[in-house]
Order: sequence, then structure tokens, then C-alpha cells
Amino acid sequence: MKKMEQLYEGKAKKVFKTDDENLYIVDYKDDATAFNGLKKGQIAGKGVVNNKMSNFLMQIMEKNGIPTHFVEEISDRETVVKRVEIVPLEVIIRNIAAGSFSKRFGVEEGKKLNCTTLEYCLKNDLGDPMINDYQIIAIGAATKEDLDTIADLTFKVNDVLKAYFESINIELVDFKIEFGKTPDGQIILADEISPDTCRLWDATTHEKLDKDRFRRDMGNVEEAYAEVFKRLGL
Ligand code: UDP
Repeated sequence: MKKMEQLYEGKAKKVFKTDDENLYIVDYKDDATAFNGLKKGQIAGKGVVNNKMSNFLMQIMEKNGIPTHFVEEISDRETVVKRVEIVPLEVIIRNIAAGSFSKRFGVEEGKKLNCTTLEYCLKNDLGDPMINDYQIIAIGAATKEDLDTIADLTFKVNDVLKAYFESINIELVDFKIEFGKTPDGQIILADEISPDTCRLWDATTHEKLDKDRFRRDMGNVEEAYAEVFKRLGL
């Protein structure tokens, strides 16, 4: 597999074409941003943790019948993934109130929610606003059929991920995932699953083991990522 020209550079990853038109290479950086790019920094070693952790979790998803873009890890920071067109939605699951949910609805951070909650944000240049099912279909961000598939898969991802994290004494508070569409029209899990995109709390002490340590200048950011990595046995 040959790494060819860079297709895209995002906040945390670069994406490259390869000599196979159906495969891309993702390269994870240590760069971190928060609050829509207003806060910028670096988390040493984050690229390696996120690459390996995301690949590990994507493979667990596959074992549980959830199709993903994962193909092969080729270095500490690089992974071959299937070419997809990203559905322009941030799909968020919440098990426990935190972050923007707590702020928007005035619900104390840490409150266990009465039901698992699904939320969407539209990925655009207007600050990724929250959007509902009708609005998504109305503007054509996804079809009703694709959105149904996305919702079903997302609840499944939550069930598998939550149980897995519970087994290593971590509470899965919330997370954001993204889906892509393959050239033949299949909806698959894409992007990443990492402490950048999940809120992970130690189940005993409720200590934060995720990007909130960077967002909120709490210190020990690298240590928190390393702790999750260690508990996953990576
Ligand atoms: N999240 C993310 N990327 C974003 C926004 C949110 O990965 O651009 C994740 C975040 O890490 C958390 C979940 O989605 O696990 C819910 O985030 P929330 O809406 O509370 O936003 P935040 O407080 O992070 O701004």
C-alpha cells in the first residue's frame, strides 16, 4: 500500500489517498482543539493513544456486528481505512449528564439520565448546531433510511462500548461518533472512538479520564489518556 497525496487535514488527523482508490490512510496528530477551535494545544502522545485505542474499539464493534471503516493499523499513528463519504452529523449518545447537555438544560453534571439520549449536531461552518431528525431529512444531510440505520447502530455501539468500559472500571458518560457511506451505499462507523470523543470517568472516584482535562485546564492530560490506554491492555 502506497501513501499518496494528502486529501484533508483536520484538527486531530490527516487523511491521505493511497494507490487503492477504495482505501485511505489516517494519520493521528498530537494537536488538540476545543470550543470549536478557540482553544488550541498539544497532548504529547495523544496521536498514538487515539490511533491504537480507536482501532482496538472498532474491532470490538466489528465482532459485535457493527460495520466500521477499520482495515489495518500500519504504524503507531497510521491506519488504513475504507473510503467513505462522511455523513455530516455528529451523533452523540449520553448516559450521564455532562458538558453542553448540563449547560443547555440546567442538569447537574453527573446525573444519571432516565433514558439513554441520542442527539445530533450538523457538521458545518456555523459552529456545528444541534439538529433534529426532521431538520436532518428536510435539508438532506441524510435520508430517513440512513438516519434510521445510524440511530440503530449508535445505540448498539453504546451497549457494547458501555459494557466494555464497565469491565475496566470506567463509566461511559457520553460520546460522539460519525458515520460514512461506502461507494456501494453501506452506512459504516467511521472517524474515531477515543478520549477526544468520549467522556470517560473512573467508576470509583469519578475522576475524568478524557479531553475535559484539556478543555478545562485540569492538568494530568497525558496521564489520563495513558491510564485509559493501560486499562484497555494496550
Ligand atoms: N464531542 C466531540 N466533538 C465535538 C463535540 C463533542 O467529540 O466537536 C464529544 C465530547 O467529547 C463528548 C460528547 O461529544 O464526549 C458530548 O459533547 P458535548 O455536546 O457535551 O459538547 P462539549 O461539552 O464537548 O462542547
